[in-house]
Amino acid sequence: MNHIQELIENQRTFFIHGNTTDFEYRKESLLKLRKMLKENETEIYYALKQDLNKSKHEAFVTELGFLYSEIDFTLKNLKTWMTPEKVPSPLSHKGSKSYIMKEPYGVVLVISPWNYPLHLALAPAIAALSAGNCVIIKPSEHAIATSQLLRALIQDTFDPSLIDVVEGGVETTEALLKERFDYIFFTGSANVGKIVMRAASEHLTPITLELGGKSPAIIDSDANVNLAAKRITWAKFTNAGQTCVAPDYLYVHDDVKFKFMKALVKQIKALFGKHPLYNEDYTKIINEKHFNRLVNFIDQEKVIHGGGFAPDTRLIEPTVMDKVTWDDPIMQEEIFGPLLPVLSFSNIEDALYTIKRQEKPLALYYFGENEKIQQQVIEFISFGGGAINDAVYHLGNPFLPFGGVGQSGMGAYHGQYGFDTFTHQKGILKQTTKFDFPFRYPGSKLNTSVV
Ligand code: NAD
Repeated sequence: MNHIQELIENQRTFFIHGNTTDFEYRKESLLKLRKMLKENETEIYYALKQDLNKSKHEAFVTELGFLYSEIDFTLKNLKTWMTPEKVPSPLSHKGSKSYIMKEPYGVVLVISPWNYPLHLALAPAIAALSAGNCVIIKPSEHAIATSQLLRALIQDTFDPSLIDVVEGGVETTEALLKERFDYIFFTGSANVGKIVMRAASEHLTPITLELGGKSPAIIDSDANVNLAAKRITWAKFTNAGQTCVAPDYLYVHDDVKFKFMKALVKQIKALFGKHPLYNEDYTKIINEKHFNRLVNFIDQEKVIHGGGFAPDTRLIEPTVMDKVTWDDPIMQEEIFGPLLPVLSFSNIEDALYTIKRQEKPLALYYFGENEKIQQQVIEFISFGGGAINDAVYHLGNPFLPFGGVGQSGMGAYHGQYGFDTFTHQKGILKQTTKFDFPFRYPGSKLNTSVV
């Protein structure tokens, strides 16, 4: 037995013995996790700075703060979520009671990416633990400082039979995927998502795939242009655009384009400074491969703001490119960096049909005041989730499911959606023995009004 097999076997034994099912035990684990994060904030900020040059403020808002909220929200609601749900029984089942039990799957695998290396490894783990599962986390090998710290902290805090971290790259993930898990939760690219899905099918393991895609932001003629520019600037350039739900490209109405672009440039300068390459708090690109991929997308003739980059620090300025067409290289794949292409439209319906012809995005944002058109946009286009007059902010609401559709993923989490994802809903009929309706048995006279 190798280390991975041994770890899974130990977790399975731990799970089978019912150690994780008790409410108090789950609560204790979540409190332990919260304490672990709280007591090691300095180390966490340092690791995120090393991996991505994240500022303390950004690291708190997008990583630690999110995890604290998710833990607190779960602790507040866990008992209710765990309680068996009573449901009605039809007349044909008279005398019986029906309810849905909330059963953990068992041993789950969480595979996470590098862009929010703490948040995206632990948020699914919080949901899995709250649902009473054992967890193995495989963090991304590209955010190495955070991955190493996460392993050390988890191993210092928890019994590995409940939760452990296995570090490594493709080979490690492949070795993990050969084994049998009871649930796999993957966050990453669509290509690797396919590999995970194929491997899961070998064992008939249920999965969630949190993927990406090209998420549009539409700015209509009646939008509050200044506020739209401010919110889009934050949503796009936080983490240097390395956010799965960042607006990938903008679709701006011709009537407000000039005003909006002016506001956008003003906001970029206000939030990231006139010289972002010298801004100590500006996030860097994760590695050279991604840096070169992004730099190749920059078409200097179309750049109206930014366009500069520094290979030694792997920083790329917040860059806006105008007059972009669907044939440009930047429109052929998810950007995942601080480059913002702008397309324009004069008729909202044309824009909507164009977007609808693309793969279903993870997010869509509409900026405009007309409620009828707002409704039309969100009904007409299929996307994972999104916002009207805002961007990215929807993922901080634990009452909303977070997940993709089509090529942007399957399944959802956050709040109760996370608990439900890692929970098997077991339907139970508790039958009376006081009487027995005869009509189901052969030879009985069927009373169709009862059936
Ligand atoms: P990735 O798919 O390259 O890697 C994700 C994980 O899979 C990592 O842990 C990695 O080690 C592993 N992996 C990579 N190649 C593998 C292979 N051949 N076989 C098995 N495992 C492999 O993704 P990434 O570059 O880390 O992250 C960027 C992508 O993730 C983007 O597409 C982005 O949109 C998406 N993303 C989605 C969400 C979401 O919540 N939907 C969040 C963040 C990122």
